[in-house]
Amino acid sequence: MKNVLITGGAGFIGSHLSDFLLDKGFKVICVDNLITGNKKNIRHLEENSNFKFLNHDISKHIAVDEKIDFVLHFASPASPVDYQKIPIQTLKAGSLGTHNTLGLALAKKAKYLLASTSEVYGDPLVNPQPEAYFGNVNPIGIRGCYDEAKRFAEALTMAYHRIHKLDTKIVRIFNTYGPRMRGDDGRAVPNFMTQALKNEPITVYGNGKQTRSFCYISDLIDGVYKLMMSGINEPVNLGNPEEYTILEFAELIKRLTKSKSRIVFRPLPVDDPHVRCPDIAKAQKELKWKPKVSLNSGLTETIKFFRNNS
Ligand code: UDP
Repeated sequence: MKNVLITGGAGFIGSHLSDFLLDKGFKVICVDNLITGNKKNIRHLEENSNFKFLNHDISKHIAVDEKIDFVLHFASPASPVDYQKIPIQTLKAGSLGTHNTLGLALAKKAKYLLASTSEVYGDPLVNPQPEAYFGNVNPIGIRGCYDEAKRFAEALTMAYHRIHKLDTKIVRIFNTYGPRMRGDDGRAVPNFMTQALKNEPITVYGNGKQTRSFCYISDLIDGVYKLMMSGINEPVNLGNPEEYTILEFAELIKRLTKSKSRIVFRPLPVDDPHVRCPDIAKAQKELKWKPKVSLNSGLTETIKFFRNNS
């Protein structure tokens, strides 16, 4: 039996990854300090003897007795509203947390996977973004705490790969959605859904012409697993390449929820990327991966979750 340690395992993506890996026969050690994660995401796993929860802040040293075969570092606030509220913890999760988890992987002779982000591309001047694009990031802006922490995390991961020959992988995760997102995390999907379901105004920031693309959680997890099991050490983008304006996206959620909400416009947050869309040619070629879930069916599942949980 293979043991995997997942930091951020009680978060939105981490908890789905825990479910998936337990199903595949892994033993899962879930590490989370619950600052943005939530125990209710893993409550259904508490009785599972292959699952163990450690309440621990990964920016502090971690000692684990068991053997570990894979370390997956997913711990970090990831919503712009969250990471702007706790920028120092965000910087520490990406820097000290990455250092601690890389050190653990090295000591345990484990494979390592870093959850990075499309935010490493900042407000991109190239669209869609291939992995070879270096990005356009404001290091001192309000998103810098997340973007630069993840860029540092990528640099440190590659240094451990080059110097210590650690088998490392980096996934650049583009906007992902699905059940277990926090209703109050401030991102477009939970905001629009909660607002639409309550028939309250749907808040589109700026003129709504900025673009994003939305990947359903099960597609992302499938890609993360393929990357984890692959021999690839360079970063790989995972996301859905169907690009929408935020206004189109708000209208779609309004339609799918049959909401009576009005769409209202609010100021665009500083440094909000104007475009974002993954170039997934590398994942398609090297992992034989591409998203399968249509936006309509993914959103319908997610709406069901928000209906039952808000
Ligand atoms: N957004 C919006 N209204 C909201 C929340 C977000 O118009 O209530 C916009 C936000 O300005 C951005 C896009 O939706 O352009 C996606 O934002 P999100 O916070 O989901 O994540 P990001 O892609 O910016 O990291």
